[in-house]
Amino acid sequence: MGNETTEAQVDTVVKKLEGAGLKANISRGIERTVIGAIGDEKNLTASMFTSLPGVESAMHIAKQYKIVSRESHKQDTVVDIAGVPLGGKQIQIIAGPCSVETQDQMDLSAKFVNEAGCRLMRGGAFKPRTSPYSFQGHGVEGLDMFRKSASKYKLPIVTELMDARQLDAFLEYDVDVIQIGTRNMQNFDLLKEVGRTNKPVILKRGMSATISEWLMAAEYIAAGGNHNIIFCERGIRTFETYYRNVLDVTAIPVLKKETHLPVIVDPSHAGGKAWMVPALSQAAVSAGADGLLVEMHPSPCDAWCDADQALTPDELKKLMGTLGAIAGAIGRTL
Ligand code: PEP
Ligand code: MN
Repeated sequence: MGNETTEAQVDTVVKKLEGAGLKANISRGIERTVIGAIGDEKNLTASMFTSLPGVESAMHIAKQYKIVSRESHKQDTVVDIAGVPLGGKQIQIIAGPCSVETQDQMDLSAKFVNEAGCRLMRGGAFKPRTSPYSFQGHGVEGLDMFRKSASKYKLPIVTELMDARQLDAFLEYDVDVIQIGTRNMQNFDLLKEVGRTNKPVILKRGMSATISEWLMAAEYIAAGGNHNIIFCERGIRTFETYYRNVLDVTAIPVLKKETHLPVIVDPSHAGGKAWMVPALSQAAVSAGADGLLVEMHPSPCDAWCDADQALTPDELKKLMGTLGAIAGAIGRTL
């Protein structure tokens, strides 16, 4: 409250706090009066106070995210993905095409992912495309193709869920990791639905989301009982137009400090060009990422979606070699 605040105005704030079952701690300075609310702040919103006369600003001091916070759980959480650990010493590279196209393309992709030494595979059956006229993915049929190809190499599968109505199909095809894409990071009803399952969830950062909005989105999933959450930094929107997005490397150590949950990076959607992927991948692993989500296509120039950013099978293999050396240098394995 400002320096011209009256006792009556202070009283009004105190009564409102007490009415909500909290205690007030008043600290009077020369420039302003600070009223601290002590107790369960769950029922308080800043707007309950900002509208009162004399109040300059109101804010939560305690963090709004609880379950996902490092404060609530000191040790790193290792998410178990069908026997593959993500979040421990071993770094996991999840590779595969942007979208599921044909059974042959998926069979080949799975073979190359396996040959490169990756333990998990990606591929989109439901695609969030900017244009409604672009290929939207094969849907449930795509899940079926993906499952068949990946199973030949015992690769757990990662695929995007866009609509809660598809959740039953995801469970039926035993999708190992549900990916929530950047466009749905704040689709709270969808987050609540995946929060009711026990499937690991990759939560991509909204393209304009702050760290705190991202953590709160994860808290929605955790609050439903599902604590198997993996954060994925995939680049954010800025003024720069040279590349698709700006990979926010800073987010990696910041998230590792704020949360006990694993953090991975998608260098493909960040750079948007295949030639940038090795450099961004190396930066991510060096900065402490627990894994990567990388697009690889058996023949990138024929890809139905995101052709520019897909690595060739050879490029993926080569990248795995470089990342192995970095992992060794920082006391991790690949
Ligand atoms: C994807 O991983 O294929 C994808 C669509 O990513 P994003 O949600 O980060 O754009
Ligand atoms: Mn893509």
